Amino acid sequence: MLRMCGVTRTYSVGGETVRALDGVDLSVGAGEYVAIEGASGSGKTTLMNIMGCLDRPTSGSYRFEGREVTGLTPGELASLRGQSIGFVFQQFNLLSRFTALENVEMPLVLRGESSRVRRAAALEALRRVGLENRVSHRPGELSGGQQQRVAIARAIVAEPALLLADEPTGNLDARSGADVLRILEKLVDSGVTVVLITHDRAVARRALRRLFIANGRLEEGEERG
Ligand code: ADP
Ligand code: MG
Repeated sequence: MLRMCGVTRTYSVGGETVRALDGVDLSVGAGEYVAIEGASGSGKTTLMNIMGCLDRPTSGSYRFEGREVTGLTPGELASLRGQSIGFVFQQFNLLSRFTALENVEMPLVLRGESSRVRRAAALEALRRVGLENRVSHRPGELSGGQQQRVAIARAIVAEPALLLADEPTGNLDARSGADVLRILEKLVDSGVTVVLITHDRAVARRALRRLFIANGRLEEGEERG
């Protein structure tokens, strides 16, 4: 599904260079459920942005579904994302003036699907996250856990091969967090590749494969020491 070799990402801030990723090698196969665990500032979001083709490496190679993405234009990256990648963020990032159904339809609007196709797919995605009875609610009328489930429905409505979740349980109470993890596990069972990013060891433990990142360096297995 994806392969990174020697990926670095540096940021220049006020004349200084911050090395957010420092030679990352990573392969993820189709259907895997991988957790990437690390402390705040370790490079998790930078890694997810590159994995998700939101950002490009400063150096190194990144192949996604067999295709080198390092040299793609922003437009090419956007179309690859639209076809193959779904995102879930800590802060849900729903549009507050739209209903759950409309939020979930959004990726299909961007793709130019007809309203009939959009509606059917969005209803099915909301059913998969157990929210078929909340389709007309706006985000402000939903609990945090329900909002995150809407965000997951939005992430899967276009049937991506890869789902990237950056601290998806970070703003949730234990019970809603557990609901979200169960939904991710169901998606893995249905064949979606899931990469879960977290600073929470208990959350990382749920994944079938664990990676640990510190100072922009990635290692297989859990934190040592
Ligand atoms: P995490 O998600 O693990 O908290 P990040 O990937 O957000 O870590 O950040 C890794 C490092 O890169 C941090 O030292 C952070 O300050 C720095 N960093 C992240 N984004 C930027 C940016 N846009 N500009 C400058 N430095 C950044
Ligand atoms: Mg982060």
